[in-house]
Amino acid sequence: KQKAIATPSKTKEILNKYGFSFKKSLGQNFIIDVNILTNILDKAGVTEDVGVIEIGPGMGSLTEQIALRADQVVTFEIDQRLAPILEETLGDYSNITIVYQDILEADVSEIINEHFDEGKKLKLVANLPYYVTTPILMKLLIARLPLSSMTVMIQKEVAERMAAVPNTKSYGSLSIAVQYYTEASVVLQVPKTVFMPQPNVDSAVLHLNLREKPLVDVIDEAFFFDLVQACFAQRRKTLRNNLVRYFSDKYTKEALELKLQEAGIDGTRRGESLTIKEFANLANVFSS
Ligand code: SAM
Repeated sequence: KQKAIATPSKTKEILNKYGFSFKKSLGQNFIIDVNILTNILDKAGVTEDVGVIEIGPGMGSLTEQIALRADQVVTFEIDQRLAPILEETLGDYSNITIVYQDILEADVSEIINEHFDEGKKLKLVANLPYYVTTPILMKLLIARLPLSSMTVMIQKEVAERMAAVPNTKSYGSLSIAVQYYTEASVVLQVPKTVFMPQPNVDSAVLHLNLREKPLVDVIDEAFFFDLVQACFAQRRKTLRNNLVRYFSDKYTKEALELKLQEAGIDGTRRGESLTIKEFANLANVFSS
């Protein structure tokens, strides 16, 4: 078995050889500890029958570990400067494809169809660039790709918000957006010391199991998400007050009270106490 890329010495060697400088603006914090990577793959449940999509291979440290376990990997990298490095570090693996594209611009569905057989079990695994975590995950979730799970290293606070339950400080519209599509859990805390350079924020690994269909049935999805945001607009105010503000030119206070009653929700509660099901009931009362 060859020496792993994810070590301090190998990473420094490559940096020097290619005169590579990290771009902070691209979220380039590379992993220099193989144990973290194998831990992530354990949590992701990557086995030899699985196809994996990765985002941001960097120098290829995680990509390599995926390739050693999975059937096949397709990885998206925005930074062309990494091409000669990745050619050296991953060139010998026949089961890795590198797509040099911004994941936010890429037609991921098309690329999946191109590289994987229909019905293949697919998972996403990535150490994401933290500056675009939410746009990337939301794009992939909304696209309803044929993935069974996503396991991503992201900023700890964001991971906690995505996996949060009602009546906690972290619970908000992001929790609902993510959990509408997935079952979310934080599966690993990661110290700063395993990165080069070390990021300013703490990291955690978030595991998302994709639902076959959304958690709740909503009549108008766009309105549902908009309403949820409105209910968290002023966190310390009651649901009723947030609704009065949101619907100021559409419903009177009395009309809103009736809608709340119809949905079976007490208007003196705060938005942060509502479950996703309750938000769906509330939205549907306005949509029907
Ligand atoms: N996987 C490597 C590791 O774990 O050491 C590197 C992870 S680093 C946190 C994030 C990687 O994502 C970098 O290689 C960066 O160039 C790349 N990246 C940043 N923005 C991207 C985007 N919009 N699309 C694709 N890759 C991107």
